Amino acid sequence: VDSKTSQLIDLQEQAAKLYHHILVNTEGGQPALDYLHDRGLTDDTIEAYQLGFAPSQRLLKPFFDQRQSDYQLLRQSGLFIENAEGELRDRFSERVMFPLRNASGHVAAFSGRLLKKADDQPKYLNSPETQLFNKSRLLFNFDRARSAIRAAGEVTLFEGYMDVISAAQSGVENGIASMGTSLTTEQIYAIERTTDKLNVCYDGDEPGQRAIARALDLLNQHSHLQLSVIQLPEGQDPDEYRQAHGEPALKQMLTTARETPIQFHLRYLRRNRSLDTDSERLDYLNQIMPMLAQVQEPVELDLYLNQLATEFKIDKSALTAQLKQVQRDTA
Ligand code: ATP
Ligand code: MN
Ligand code: MN
Ligand code: MN
Repeated sequence: VDSKTSQLIDLQEQAAKLYHHILVNTEGGQPALDYLHDRGLTDDTIEAYQLGFAPSQRLLKPFFDQRQSDYQLLRQSGLFIENAEGELRDRFSERVMFPLRNASGHVAAFSGRLLKKADDQPKYLNSPETQLFNKSRLLFNFDRARSAIRAAGEVTLFEGYMDVISAAQSGVENGIASMGTSLTTEQIYAIERTTDKLNVCYDGDEPGQRAIARALDLLNQHSHLQLSVIQLPEGQDPDEYRQAHGEPALKQMLTTARETPIQFHLRYLRRNRSLDTDSERLDYLNQIMPMLAQVQEPVELDLYLNQLATEFKIDKSALTAQLKQVQRDTA
């Protein structure tokens, strides 16, 4: 690590400390602290993740000016926005701050969540890309999760920071998240160096389900990870599930509920479909046949075929015959 890098890290870590101090020790931080407590986060969790609060645009700038920090360094930190005159102002204000740590546990950037809903602003605002922060590379919580991933022999991939934190507070510490953007191959390679099993646990809403399908595809193409899906009730994300059912229930689900990628696709392809008529049912079966054709394990395949035969009241031998035909056509 060169000295410029370590100076930049030092800036990020000082900012994290200050944001955290504002959150837990000052009156200005009280509304944000109340907000996090209302969401069910404990003080230990807030401490462990060094969550913070950016109260206004007048926090970091005067703080670093007092310390006579280098202007160029401040500019390159991503913590400020620059006007036409080259003046710097805090980028984050009125946001709950999540430090984003790199794999070695150093603060590389921040994500700030709006405290109050505002239509003209994004719910989460991330630092821009800097020398320290490459959003297609960083995985939230990877530094803390690594030992739990090794111990559990698997990693769980969530959609949001709050989901990772919720899981950890509930006793499931092997969770990570990508940076709001979809998963990247660089992140997949980093995961694959640590474990050979991955569970996808995205939100139970339409965007979440669509994102699972995409993530499974990408993971399939670029890794040999053994994949499962942890399916949430319609419309809920893991953090909402914890708030509704409690930490033991979330832990129970995260450690036991597993669906194979095929089971996920079978279910996903029926979303928003009635399957009331024969033609709808045929259409559905035609769509899933190519997926079934790729199942390698005979027992697993038999399971799906039995399930479909029973549900659609079709002779299993007919399904098998059609599957053979699809396999011939694609061979
Ligand atoms: P919360 O529970 O705080 O409302 P969430 O994690 O449930 O947040 P989602 O809307 O499900 O939020 O989005 C999932 C993730 O996508 C977020 O954690 C964040 O990383 C990212 N994200 C959401 N909205 C934005 C945005 N406007 N800009 C950048 N990233 C975003
Ligand atoms: Mn979501
Ligand atoms: Mn969510
Ligand atoms: Mn949420």
